[in-house]
Amino acid sequence: MRRWKFWDEAASNQETAPPETAQSGSLPGRTAHAGEPVPKPSSAPPPLPTHSEAQQRLASLTRRRDGILFDVEQAELARTADNPWRERMALLGETLKVVQNDIAALDREPRVVRPPLPPTPIVISEVTPDDPARILFTVGSTEFHYESDLDWAEKGTTIARGELLRTQGDPAAIIPDEIPGDLRDELASHLENSLFIFATDLRHRADEDQPQPDSATLADLAQPCPICGHWQSWGGFCATCADRANRRRALEAEFMRISAEQAAEEEERAKWAERLPTALRRLKDVEDEIAALSQL
Ligand SMILES: [Zn+2]
Repeated sequence: MRRWKFWDEAASNQETAPPETAQSGSLPGRTAHAGEPVPKPSSAPPPLPTHSEAQQRLASLTRRRDGILFDVEQAELARTADNPWRERMALLGETLKVVQNDIAALDREPRVVRPPLPPTPIVISEVTPDDPARILFTVGSTEFHYESDLDWAEKGTTIARGELLRTQGDPAAIIPDEIPGDLRDELASHLENSLFIFATDLRHRADEDQPQPDSATLADLAQPCPICGHWQSWGGFCATCADRANRRRALEAEFMRISAEQAAEEEERAKWAERLPTALRRLKDVEDEIAALSQL
């Protein structure tokens, strides 16, 4: 609001340069507009500012001084022992410790003991990869059928093939009698996955004209993992190890992100601290100018 008042007074005096010209004149390298005469350097001393010009200048200097004072305060704060940047860095440091503990806890997760399964043979009787897919095999005396839920289905421009569905056979039926009761549910759900992976592998081999496995057994569907001890699926895939690896990667990414945030806080603090001498010099200049104008 104050600025407008001053501008009104200045407009009545018709002595200040229009803002547009002042702005163009400040462009680096520019000396004049097209169509305007090239300004000639004048040797005459500048005329004393009128009262309203002095007021206007004073107001703008005061605003500038407030801005510089803020810079000085921040720069001085950045040089103290307890500053907000260090506080935030300390808090982030606490979070980093928690993440490190989580990683250590993950690495300390106990190794379990799961019994191996007997080498009951798997006999493959049919592998038709498509239209519709039919994968038939027996584990011991239990017959399993897998079929594709849909024929080749078009989704947009890509063709997605139907996933295999188990249409016959119960994974719980192939659990050996000697498996203790508290492991049977876990093993049933493991075998459900492992059998699906086995059937999908047979389909894939037929697609690629690769030979089918000729001596697969029940033991191959649930090998104890040498790292975590849980059962691995057909083909040696360990879901527990994969899950741990994913969680570890996520924690490591979190650690890196927080470390970067911490480094950014220190960078910001150092930038403010470095600014102090310049800010003090600018403050002195603007205060000198204000004092000179106030005496007019
Ligand atoms: Zn494992």
